[in-house]
Order: sequence, then structure tokens, then C-alpha cells
Amino acid sequence: MMRFLLLLIVSVLLLPWSTGTATAGASPVLQTRGASALQAGTVQYLLGMPTADFREIAATERDWQLLSKPNLGKQRDGAWLRFTLHNRADRAQRWYLLLKWPVLDRVAVRLHYPDSGRWGTPMLAGDALALSARPLADHHFVYPLELPPDELVVVYMQVQARETLALPLELIDEKQLIEGKLRDVTLISLFFGGILVIVLYNCSLLIFTRDRSYFLYVLYLLSAVFYVLTITGFGQLYLWPEIPALSARFYGLSAALCFLTPMLFALRFLGIRRYGGWVWAVSITLTCYWGLVTLAILLAPTLARYLFMETVALLHCVVTMAVTLNLWMRGNPSARLFSIAWSTLLVFTVINLLALNGTLPLNAWTLNGQLIGMFTEFVLLSMALAERINVERNRRIAAQQLALQASESLAEERALHLQAKQEALDLQLHANEVLEARVFERTRALEDVRCGLEAANAELMRLSTTDPLTQLANRRRFDRLLEEEIRRARRNGSPLSVLLADIDHFKRVNDSYGHPFGDECLRQVAAVLAAHCQRAGDVAARYGGEEFVVLLPGAGRQQAVALAELIRCGIANLQLQHGEQPVPLTISLGVATLATPLESPDELLAAADAALYQAKHQGRNQVVLADDRVSDAWSDFSSQPV
Ligand code: GH3
Ligand code: MG
Ligand code: MG
Repeated sequence: MMRFLLLLIVSVLLLPWSTGTATAGASPVLQTRGASALQAGTVQYLLGMPTADFREIAATERDWQLLSKPNLGKQRDGAWLRFTLHNRADRAQRWYLLLKWPVLDRVAVRLHYPDSGRWGTPMLAGDALALSARPLADHHFVYPLELPPDELVVVYMQVQARETLALPLELIDEKQLIEGKLRDVTLISLFFGGILVIVLYNCSLLIFTRDRSYFLYVLYLLSAVFYVLTITGFGQLYLWPEIPALSARFYGLSAALCFLTPMLFALRFLGIRRYGGWVWAVSITLTCYWGLVTLAILLAPTLARYLFMETVALLHCVVTMAVTLNLWMRGNPSARLFSIAWSTLLVFTVINLLALNGTLPLNAWTLNGQLIGMFTEFVLLSMALAERINVERNRRIAAQQLALQASESLAEERALHLQAKQEALDLQLHANEVLEARVFERTRALEDVRCGLEAANAELMRLSTTDPLTQLANRRRFDRLLEEEIRRARRNGSPLSVLLADIDHFKRVNDSYGHPFGDECLRQVAAVLAAHCQRAGDVAARYGGEEFVVLLPGAGRQQAVALAELIRCGIANLQLQHGEQPVPLTISLGVATLATPLESPDELLAAADAALYQAKHQGRNQVVLADDRVSDAWSDFSSQPV
């Protein structure tokens, strides 16, 4: 696109202006081209007399002044011009008077033929008049001049405008008129084509980026288009031909907009507010001023006249140049291209303003050079905007890369974190397993200990209730069992008997054969007792020394006596020997059966002991029943055979 725009600039530079310069005619302010047969006199002027008519002007006594430059400055009451034309050809010719500054309000032209005293028809053109009022529809003010052969003609013009009376006049024939129009249309088409491209380009950027800079820039472009349409006359020719009341204000309005909109754009695009100080103060003041001017032109056009637009415009060019250069020096990235772009237009604008106030000569370059400046500026500004997009894109790419790196390192960290977590989990699992194994081991060990303890307890219990020598129950166990069995016998009403046995003359055995043999005898006796206690509940116990006791639950006295007899016989038949020496061993037994349900263990044992004592006393090796103590009722029951 940039190449296309550059091509356009070159075209704009080359195409029109070379042909636009006219060959010098007779007058320095009236350009005539190729008009060898036409002789033009000097242009003279009179100021004021706004209400006079052409005839009055022709007859006026006032002195006409020579117009030495095509600019009369601001003239509130307008001015009158006159010059002579002499067609030296031998036939009538039509020539065209061009006024190439179509922003003047009203320019009337009338021919006077002094030879015949006749007056031509008055012809009117101006931006305060409708297009249809003009003698010829053209973007310039064009007045056809009918020049009879070899006759002097005086051309009178009345020029009125609230703006500067700039008067770039040209005298051309029809061929040049057509060529000129074609050239100008081509030029303006190229210009607007280029602007259109830039507008569309920036509109698309506006849509995509939503950056207000592009909107303000497009506003600026449109203002410039408005201004160019106004100063070239194409606006009134094609767009607003019949609204003279408004179109008369368009020159001032479009110029003010062309100062206001770039200020708005610059404020935003260069971020001027950030810089503060005089830069900000000047920028905002100028912006407000142009906003005020715009409003004044629209709402109070008479007031606008007192706002010194031209002077402020010149000041504006200088000051804004200083602002952008200052920003450039302070490192604003967009200010460089902006300054260059801005300065291009400012140079042409200053030239234009100086030409309009009469300092510089008024010609096609000084009047329309702004088009070149504008176009160059727009291309450069587009480049500046594009550059900013590039800068922002690079910034975005950098930011994206940063974000990518950050997310990568985050992912890495997360992976590390996960790994660490997994490791911790593994460790924990392992620790749990170890712990479980240990707990299991400890539990098993404890269980072993508990079993050992139980076994030890059981052994202790056994030991504490067993007589170590004979392995019979000891006296403690017997006493407990006796109590239990007596309670049971009471509950069930069943009989219960005890046998108390004592080895006869055992002291002698010990004394004769030694204590160890005595122990052996004790074991043999115990074995016989145990052998006779086969029923469930029967218990044989060592009562102490060489005394034994047998508990017989459920046994009545007869049954107990019978068993006692069997035991006595069993012992008597033991046939013990010490070496070769036979050792006879006998026992005496006392039998007692529970006399009453309320009898205590001690009473029962005492009865048995008494029976045993009796057996000893009666000669030993016998069974004595303590039967005289049994009550009748209980006696009947306990003496029943079992
Ligand atoms: P009696 O017929 O009147 O019962 O006469 P005895 O000699 O058996 O009675 P005595 O009470 O005078 O003697 C009991 C003896 O029993 C005394 C003691 O040496 C012996 N003796 C007691 N306990 C044991 C023991 O555990 N082992 C051995 N070898 N002898 C014991
Ligand atoms: Mg004894
Ligand atoms: Mg004894």
C-alpha cells in the first residue's frame, strides 16, 4: 500500500503543477496562455463601493490603482477590478476568465464595449451563491468572455468575501479550459483515491484494534477531504451546489476542522497528557480554541470574524511544530514520524497562509500546495500508525513469549511438585508397610508373650494347687473344691463323702529306709489313691505329711466306705521293697459323709479326722465310718447305695 501511496505522491507532484504555471501575460496578476492574438491591459482596482452598480463604477471619478499582486487582503466592503482586452484577430473569439480561488463569496463580472457603448450581461459566481447562478458549472469561477474582432473590451469585476481577497486570475481559451478541467479532475481523483485508500486502511485498523487513535485519524482525514473539496471548488460543483448559505462558511469551517482534528489525534496518538507542562498546556489550549472556532462558525458566523483565525493558524503551525519536536527529543516513539509528517503539511500551510496575507506571491503552488503537504503527511502518519502497530505487535509477541516461558516453567515446577508428591507418597506407603510389619511383629511377640504368660500362669496355678511330690492336688486346692462341692451338694440335695487317710507308722519307714524311700512310698500311695478316683468330681489330695484326703461328691457313706476299703486293700497289696527287703505298708482311713446340708467343710473334715483317729486307735489298717452323727432324714438319703 505504501508503494501505491508513494506513486500517488509522485503523480501529484509531477502532473498538474508543471502545466499549471502560466506564461506571463501583459499583467503580473492576469495570467494568459497561448493568447498571441489577445492583448490584455493592466489590472486596476478600487476598494469599497459595495452597493454601486457597473455603470456607476465605469463612470466613477475615483482613481483606479494598479493591482501589483493578486491579493487585496481582507476587505470588508470588497473591491472592484477592471482591465482591458483587445482581440486582434479578425474574427470574434470566446475566451474564459478563471478565478482559481473558489472560496470567495461573490464575484460579479460584466463586459463593457466602449466603442459601441454597450454592456454585456452581468455574470455571477461565488460560494455564497448557488451553482446554478454561475454562467458555467465548473469548480473554478469561470466567466465566458465574448470578444468581437479588433475591438477593445473593458472587463469589470466586483469581488466580495469575508475572507482574504485572493485573486489568482487566468485568461484561457476553450481548449485550455477543457484540458485544465480534465487535469484537475484527474488530479483530485488521484488525491481522493489515495485518501480513500488511507481512510479504508485506517478504518479496518480501527475495527481490528479498537484504538481510538485510528478513529481520530480518520476524522482528520475526512476534515482534510472536506477542506480540499472546498478550496478546489469540487465540493460545490458536485456535492453542495445549492446550499449557498452554508457553503459560504465551509472554507472557514473546514480549515478550523483541519486544525482541530489533528490536535485531537495528536493528543491521543502522542499521549501528550503524560508529558504535562507547557507541552500539554499549549496543546489543550489550541484544541479548545479550534473547537470554539468550529462552534462559532456553525452557530455565530459573524462572531467567528473576530477570532483572528489566520493569525492563530500561523502561530499554531509554529507552536505544534515545537511540541512535536520536544516530544521527539524526549523519546516519544511516535513523535519522530509525526514531526516529519506534520512539518511537511505545516510548511505548505505556512506558505498558503503567507500567500493569502500577501507576503508570498499567490499562485497555484502557494494556493494548492497544501494538497501535496497533506498527502505526504497522511502517508507518513499512516506509516507512523503502522509502525506503532509493529511496535505493539513486537511487544505482544515478547509478552506472549514471556507468558509461554512462564507457563513452561510453571509446568516444569508442577511436574517436579508432582514427582516430589509421588515420592513422598511412596515413602509414606513404604513407611506404612514397615510400620504395619512392625506392628504385626510386635503384636505377634505380644501374643507370644501373652500365651507364654498364660501358660506360665496356668503352670503357676497348677503348681500352686498341686503337690510337687505326689502330683496330687494340694490342700489349698482340696479346700476350695470341698467348699464348691458342699455348695453343690446342698443345692442338688446330693450326698458327699470324704476319706481321710494316714499311713501307718510311717516314721519308722523313714527312720528305717531313709527319707527318699519314704518319698517313694508317698508317691506309691498317691498313685493308688488316684487310681481309685475315676469318677468325674472325685479328687484325691495330699493333706499334709503322710496324710491324704479323698473327696467323693455324690457318694453316700456305703459307697464311700466301699471305696475306702478298696483303697486300703490296694495299699496293703503294694508289696513295696527296699532293695531285697520287702516293706509292708498300710493305711488307716476315716470316712465321713455330709451329715446335714448346713454342715461346714471343717466340721465334715473334723468328723473324718475323728473317724481316722478311731481307726488308728483300734489297731490301724482299717476303715472307720463316722456314722453316728448323721440325722435320720439325711442318713436315709446318704445311706442309699449309689
Ligand atoms: P502312726 O501310725 O501313729 O501314724 O505313726 P507314725 O509314725 O506314722 O506317725 P508320726 O506322726 O509320728 O510320724 C509321721 C512321720 O511321717 C514323721 C515324718 O518323718 C514322716 N513324714 C512326714 N512327711 C514326710 C515326707 O514328706 N517324706 C518322708 N519320707 N517322711 C515324711
Ligand atoms: Mg501322721
Ligand atoms: Mg502315720
